[in-house]
Amino acid sequence: MGVVVQKFGGSSVKNAERLMEAARKAIRAKSAGNQVIVVVSAQGSTTDDLIAKAAEITATPSAREMDMLLATGEQISIALTALAIQELGEKAVSFTGSQIGIVTDSTHRKARIKSIDTRRLSEALTSGHIVVVAGFQGIDEQGDISTLGRGGSDTTAVAVAAAMKQAGYEVECEIYTDVDGVYTTDPRIVPDARKADAVSYDEMLEMASMGAGVMHSRSIEFAKKYDVPLMVRNAQSDAVGTWIVPEANWMGEIPVCGAALAADEARITLEGVPDQPGVSHAVFEALAGANIAVDMIGQSIGAGGRATIGFTVINAELDRTKKVLAPIVAGLGATLNVTERVSKVSVVGAGMRTVAGVAERMFDALAAEQVNLKMITTGDIKISVLIEEDTTPAPMDATEPAATEKIKKAHEESKKAVRGRKALRAVHKAFGLDQPRKGAGLPTDAVTATGTLVRKPPAVSADATAREAAVARLDGMEDVLVSGVHLNTDMARITVFDLPDVPGTVAKVFNAVAAGSILVDTIVQNITGPGRAELSFTVPKADATKAERQVSELLREIDARCRVEGDASIAVLYVLGVGMRTHTGVARTMFGALAAKGINIEMINTSEVCVGVVIDAARGPEAVAALKAAFKV
Ligand code: ADP
Ligand code: ASP
Ligand code: MG
Repeated sequence: MGVVVQKFGGSSVKNAERLMEAARKAIRAKSAGNQVIVVVSAQGSTTDDLIAKAAEITATPSAREMDMLLATGEQISIALTALAIQELGEKAVSFTGSQIGIVTDSTHRKARIKSIDTRRLSEALTSGHIVVVAGFQGIDEQGDISTLGRGGSDTTAVAVAAAMKQAGYEVECEIYTDVDGVYTTDPRIVPDARKADAVSYDEMLEMASMGAGVMHSRSIEFAKKYDVPLMVRNAQSDAVGTWIVPEANWMGEIPVCGAALAADEARITLEGVPDQPGVSHAVFEALAGANIAVDMIGQSIGAGGRATIGFTVINAELDRTKKVLAPIVAGLGATLNVTERVSKVSVVGAGMRTVAGVAERMFDALAAEQVNLKMITTGDIKISVLIEEDTTPAPMDATEPAATEKIKKAHEESKKAVRGRKALRAVHKAFGLDQPRKGAGLPTDAVTATGTLVRKPPAVSADATAREAAVARLDGMEDVLVSGVHLNTDMARITVFDLPDVPGTVAKVFNAVAAGSILVDTIVQNITGPGRAELSFTVPKADATKAERQVSELLREIDARCRVEGDASIAVLYVLGVGMRTHTGVARTMFGALAAKGINIEMINTSEVCVGVVIDAARGPEAVAALKAAFKV
């Protein structure tokens, strides 16, 4: 008998009527012959309301007490859900996180799951109950209640499914929410966003971690690590939702499957840092030590022995970031600048690995909208750009009473991610994401005529096998997984210095490169000084001379100060795994191991499944050995 884990989000249990609907869905799954575990979130806006209650008392609440408070939201939901199921005539029993041994670390408010004891779950299922589990919460080794971070009930659901799978059950997981599935982007921002029939674990992991709020990205780490198939679907209908599954062949044909906006980040630039090995390490080690996750990292090659490091952190971590970095920045003789209101727009797609011209298409669309790109970074299957929001609020003229409300509204509106939203819409359209395609309205080799995905066994690749072995070695279920280290010596680096910091220049550069049908891989652009940016990218060695020539011809037209430099003596060093960006320790270990060998990092690209750095090819083998030792792979 299979186990179905059904997760219902806040809006899907917000009142008695919705609770009864959820209960009916659970009973239906049981009647179909499954054992059923239901994971629920707090009702409606309960978690926000609890946070507001604490804010009435203190601006600096202790994390432990906040967890004690916030966990109550889910405790209400589990009891009500169990009552609803019982009312409909089925046996049900509810459990808090601590009752079923969801053991976490002690990082209150963003605790990570270490283990789940499935014994009590199994007993309750065997005795014929539908088991209702509180999402978002666990208990640490001292016996204190912990929570997993906002949106964490998704993670509870998939983690419980993974634990049941480890215990030998056949498992499926359904995530019920207020939309029909995973859309090409947030349908609240782009109404013509299209529902996907299926996306891969990696694509969903990137989309979620780039801002697609439909799934908690940590839940997809569990899904990928433990190979738990998921379906995201609507709690108020029976419509087939979106499957999140291992990558199928057809997915590799789709260069971009989704776009996302994150508007809660701040950009930090460290200007005038010495261009020496170990400097990035010092910076990112300090941040990792404080458990601050760094998002986009753009490091310039630098000139005159000084370089610029740019990166983003979520706004909530900005003050801590400044505090942590102050002594380091002073020690390096650098300056720290902050831009608080930035928006990050990203595109994601498995096909990006092999389809040329994706970056060019994205930058063209943004140039056409006159969007200026303050930073560009790439990962294995994503490209992100950072856009400065307009910080000049709409004028307030209090002498015009009739207009006051309207002006106030405009003032409020101006604080939102206006430019980011505009950029998201432009990019969504440029990739035709509003149109039917394979996997989003058109059949694929893995989707039957009725739209149901026929699950294929995951491709047994070297990476999948290495991953399985690495999962077996983990201490805690949610520990970062590093499964391999690879060196690619087929690429060359092209760097453009002193590019004018105005809309459209980057698009011109990539148009010039694309004219030669050259596949561009890692891209990093960063502002290096007043009005100037530095852009680096990698291309196959065989195309490097052509790319450099084409760019240098273009630069003559742009500005006499720009110059291009090609370097074919680089190598790209990759560390593969799951959860690489959100687990702060990965970059620390990686940069630390390279710094210890005196190996300089020229470019960095990060994603949830891969961190890549560009280094001197001559140091390649030594760097691989150092990283294999550091990550024990
Ligand atoms: P729940 O309470 O069920 O966990 P959430 O609010 O966390 O629901 O997630 C659902 C919401 O995510 C949707 O209402 C939608 O506005 C938003 N969202 C953001 N990006 C996407 C996307 N790519 N696809 C679908 N929904 C998205
Ligand atoms: N109730 C928690 C929150 O609002 C967890 C969740 O809904 O997933 O963040
Ligand atoms: Mg959610």
